[in-house]
Amino acid sequence: PVDRLPEIQEARLRLPILAEEQVVMEAVRENECVVLCGETGSGKTTQVPQFLYEAGYASSGGIIGVTEPRRVAAISMSQRVAQEMNLSTGVVSYQIRFEGNVTEDTKIKFMTDGVLLKEIQKDFLLQKYSVIIIDEAHERSVYTDILIGLVSRIAPLRNRRGLPMKLLIMSATLRVEDFTENQRLFRTPPPVIKVEARQFPVTVHFNKRTPMEDYTGEAFHKICKIHRMLPSGGILVFLTGQAEVHSVCRRLRKAFPYRPNRERTVSANTEVSKTSRRAKKKNVCLPKISLDNYSALPVDEGDEDRQAGIDEDDGEGSDLELGDHPDSDPEEKSDPSIPLYVLPLYSLLAPEQQAKVFRPPPAGARLCVVATNVAETSLTIPGIKYVVDCGRVKKRFYDRVTGVSSFKVTWISQASANQRAGRAGRTEAGHCYRLYSSAVFGDFSLFSEAEITRRPVDDLVLQMKDLNIEKVVNFPFPTPPSGETLISAEQLLISLGALEEPPRRGRLNEMERARLSCPITPLGRAMAAFPVSPRYAKMLALGRQQGCMPYIITIVSAMTVREIFEEYDRPAGSEEESSRMAGKKARSVQMRRLWAGQGQSLLLGDLMVLLGAVGACEFAGCSQQFCEGNGLRYKAILEIRRLRGQLTNTVNSVCADAGVFVDHKMAPPTDAQVVYLRQIVLAGLGDHLARRVQNEELLDPKWRNGYKTPLLDEPVFIHPSSALHKTLPEFVVYQEIVETTKMYMRGVCAVQPE
Ligand code: ADP
Ligand code: MG
Repeated sequence: PVDRLPEIQEARLRLPILAEEQVVMEAVRENECVVLCGETGSGKTTQVPQFLYEAGYASSGGIIGVTEPRRVAAISMSQRVAQEMNLSTGVVSYQIRFEGNVTEDTKIKFMTDGVLLKEIQKDFLLQKYSVIIIDEAHERSVYTDILIGLVSRIAPLRNRRGLPMKLLIMSATLRVEDFTENQRLFRTPPPVIKVEARQFPVTVHFNKRTPMEDYTGEAFHKICKIHRMLPSGGILVFLTGQAEVHSVCRRLRKAFPYRPNRERTVSANTEVSKTSRRAKKKNVCLPKISLDNYSALPVDEGDEDRQAGIDEDDGEGSDLELGDHPDSDPEEKSDPSIPLYVLPLYSLLAPEQQAKVFRPPPAGARLCVVATNVAETSLTIPGIKYVVDCGRVKKRFYDRVTGVSSFKVTWISQASANQRAGRAGRTEAGHCYRLYSSAVFGDFSLFSEAEITRRPVDDLVLQMKDLNIEKVVNFPFPTPPSGETLISAEQLLISLGALEEPPRRGRLNEMERARLSCPITPLGRAMAAFPVSPRYAKMLALGRQQGCMPYIITIVSAMTVREIFEEYDRPAGSEEESSRMAGKKARSVQMRRLWAGQGQSLLLGDLMVLLGAVGACEFAGCSQQFCEGNGLRYKAILEIRRLRGQLTNTVNSVCADAGVFVDHKMAPPTDAQVVYLRQIVLAGLGDHLARRVQNEELLDPKWRNGYKTPLLDEPVFIHPSSALHKTLPEFVVYQEIVETTKMYMRGVCAVQPE
């Protein structure tokens, strides 16, 4: 029996899914697999685990496992369910790649999909679990897709062995044919239960024109109008990345200051004069995505990295319903009489900041959440009446042939746009302002495509091989990756020594080679044990020479965690603030130079900077203060710390005599060790080799300071933030190439030919 607080019980009863409890539980009882579709906010994630718990699915020792594609959701949903059930987080717990609070008593476990995939490697039958809920299946994240394929096989195996297990697939959209009508996945289609949400009508307003560049400015103006002219109710704004979110938050806070416990003294005069100085110039500026958008491994999160400031001009919206003021631009004038409680929301935000969106706004202030697409389906923010949708999303794209990746802001699908609009009608009738025209909307694709069709799959192929799935082409993927993608994954794994070389029987064409299904090698098995992508796993597997292991663990941890260096946004306006920012930036540049070391170390390039940064930070006790003072992102540093611990444990368990430990006072590597470290790094990144274009080869000036790589016809460059930017060694290996204004190599390390 669950002992819920009265107010919780009352809130639950308002959720549409509560009316379907019987139907859902009966379907689960009768079927091995059930698909549950329901509008976002209908209560799937928070309620279904509770139904199962109350029906006894966790009472005979089994755990109810719930997978989420996003870490944010795994953490916040576990906390919410624990709170609703009045149980401790030791019973309703979460596990994400770097952290968790699972105990012996855990009965309901929220985890990222990648975590469950790793668990399948340890126990293929998932015997700990009585139920697996695959949540947010509509997001079509790679790991979710793979899990559905695997669990569709595991459930029947379990049932045949008298260890029954249930599978629930939950989705926010009705488009589930890829799962239900996929004969390879389910021979008999699983039943689909639809939860009708009590959704209030949402009036959708299209823009007449579609701003191609300055949609953040457009969003800002729209929010200002809503806030000035429309009745109370929260505003939710969808933008594409962290920098955009911050820039709009900053402008809104300036325009409608909310000052808790402080006298409202706003220097209105200076603000006004600034406004009038704002010339109506239309400086068209293409959005630039900076290289700092880079992420090493999009493991279990959406790619919504930072984006360098998009220049804000003042493109005026043309929305008649909200009135048009083409000649006045009063928005930037500070108006403390109508405070706006502005909160950012994106996945890299610290959890305590994220949690704020669920709390009611302070009395007298309107809530305005400026979010990336995390707010689209994973989190339902209460009290939203107005949605402002820029119609775009930032995604990472990979070139299939060259592996070059780039972040691109693209249009969302119609399904996403409708999800976003739906956020406005949860508590009462609402409005959605689309910052694009209905014609543009008509050109959107109907649904977003599955992630697996967009990214390399070497990590998945290795994990599948480790699960003894030899013929990866035959795996029941909900949407299979292309043959080309599978072939290049196998080729990389063969070159890393993780898979056996296929026998050279005559001449095989590429498709035949792929079907050959190369078996995994012992090295491949060791590599598969590490929760990092195969290249890094290879480095770990080689790390035992000359006491290099602790360094390699640190370098790999730092390379896999996103955004270790703080990026300093463009100055917000006030001189004081911009000089403070400039000071921080200068300090950060100075520290990076220091961490790059001297002599041999310099040749390790950016990897030495990472090693130096983590080493120095640990030495100083890993405090938030140290991070902030030296340009490091505290959250990233904590993740690196956890990953170091986890990789250290894995190394010790893979080879019992390794005897490595996490040394918080790690001395810098010796020159001899640096030489080994470079060789180890080369072994993992060997195919990412680039050679500097020689002066005599310089026919075209665009190749100046450029590098040649085997796969690209275009020159690539060392990024200006790199430690080797000025050195320009003849040979380098790089972590990856990201295309922005140029093709830039990230994570560069010098190589010397033998
Ligand atoms: P679904 O999974 O169907 O999208 P959820 O179960 O996530 O729906 O949400 C159901 C309700 O629970 C929503 O109204 C949401 O606002 C509320 N809710 C979720 N998390 C929290 C929280 N941490 N605090 C307050 N309310 C929450
Ligand atoms: Mg949900």
